[in-house]
Amino acid sequence: MREFAFQPTQRIDQAVAAHGRDAAASYIAGGTTLVDLVKLDVMRPTRVIDVSRLPLNEVERLDDGRLRIGALVTNTALAHHPQVIERYPLLSQAILAGASTQIRNMATTAGNVMQRTRCPYYRDVAAACNRREPGSGCDALHGINRMHAVLGVSEHCIAVHPSDMCVAMAALGATLTLEGPGGTREMAFNDFHRLPAERPDREHELDDGELITHVTLDTPIEGAGSYYLKLRDRASYEFALASAGAVIAVSDGVIREARLALGGIATKPWRSIEAEQALHDQPAAITTFEMAAEAALQDAVPREHNAFKIPLARQAIVRALREACRDAERRQAHR
Ligand code: SF4
Repeated sequence: MREFAFQPTQRIDQAVAAHGRDAAASYIAGGTTLVDLVKLDVMRPTRVIDVSRLPLNEVERLDDGRLRIGALVTNTALAHHPQVIERYPLLSQAILAGASTQIRNMATTAGNVMQRTRCPYYRDVAAACNRREPGSGCDALHGINRMHAVLGVSEHCIAVHPSDMCVAMAALGATLTLEGPGGTREMAFNDFHRLPAERPDREHELDDGELITHVTLDTPIEGAGSYYLKLRDRASYEFALASAGAVIAVSDGVIREARLALGGIATKPWRSIEAEQALHDQPAAITTFEMAAEAALQDAVPREHNAFKIPLARQAIVRALREACRDAERRQAHR
């Protein structure tokens, strides 16, 4: 492991100043991604700035009904927070479907947003990887690519974004608050992660030195039901082969509003506007869900080992939509 300077901080402005615009500096909070990658020599920070003691661990309902989540709220605390369980059950389900209890106890909200791909070639410094080393190539394209993406891919990278939490946030709608050398700014969650295109090493829209301080969830859709379905090789501590997060509002058997986001098959948390349009004002029926699944997957590009993900994702979408509708019916019955 290479040497680096370690700098604890107590205030947000102090942390941002310590980072400056030094691209070789890294923030650390839970450390569940960074420590692994430093040990593997994949990330080589010259300075590590400890932000774990910043005052960013509150969950607060705002006057306009949105929910503001501090960057340092752990995945465990967020999944079990009463506001999340009651008003955003999709988020709680998605978080609890990810990782292990021990990791969720350490992992933070902002760290989860920032987590890196699990592509094995990215984590092997002997392999060619455009994401780790721009211009070096991509060993996954003609290698073992069973776990890789079919949506949002390019000829330069087909790595899956690994987060479950982010799939729920993409479906629920959220805003990120960023603090950096240039001040404070806000960004829609769905604009934050980049597609790999020609520069897979540019994973997100953070400027050098910027820090995520909060994630604010949109006000929940009135009367909507939701469901998160994750399909994977084993029942726990495993990444998704395909996942779907659905939010649906139904009245008189007709879908009034729908949100759908996908995981395990895309290079970023994948909100499917095409599927949502196929659902809008249509009967809440299996045939509608199947049409939405077709719309969501119409641009999928399979590789040698991952073509099975397309029918698998189709099933995940149909089931998640069906269960979200049932949840909406249950909620209406209890009103
Ligand atoms: Fe690297 Fe992306 Fe290729 Fe994986 S898929 S080896 S992360 S460029």
